Amino acid sequence: MSLIDKLEDLVVKVDTEYQEKMEAVIREIVPGMPEGNVRHAAELMCTDRMGNMMDIDLYILHEENRPYKCPYLKELLEDRIARVTKMHENKSYAYDTDDNYWCATCGSHSYKEDSKTGYCWHCDTDNWIKEYGADVGI
Ligand SMILES: [Zn+2]
Repeated sequence: MSLIDKLEDLVVKVDTEYQEKMEAVIREIVPGMPEGNVRHAAELMCTDRMGNMMDIDLYILHEENRPYKCPYLKELLEDRIARVTKMHENKSYAYDTDDNYWCATCGSHSYKEDSKTGYCWHCDTDNWIKEYGADVGI
């Protein structure tokens, strides 16, 4: 076996182990998440994250179009909202309201958005849905 073949084999093995470990982390954090979503979120966390721990929970929350409706995401989403609320105790944050959109991540219809980023005031995600009164899906 050439060194390059060996290198490829070893790297694939490490990649696979990394992904399997990440899947185990997700199963521990959000028990009950469908296996297809676990694998997909783990893949993104292994390839996109590049060591960045900012908003790592979004890889999991964004596996669903309506995280606030998923029982297995409830606790993680509540933790996120609590963290964002704490962040807002720093008075440099302010919000605007835009009643054309509601937040599909946390389900808020308060229409409050961070005045700097335009993200949801409650969960700090960019997952706005037009407010027709109907939940039409993405
Ligand atoms: Zn939200």
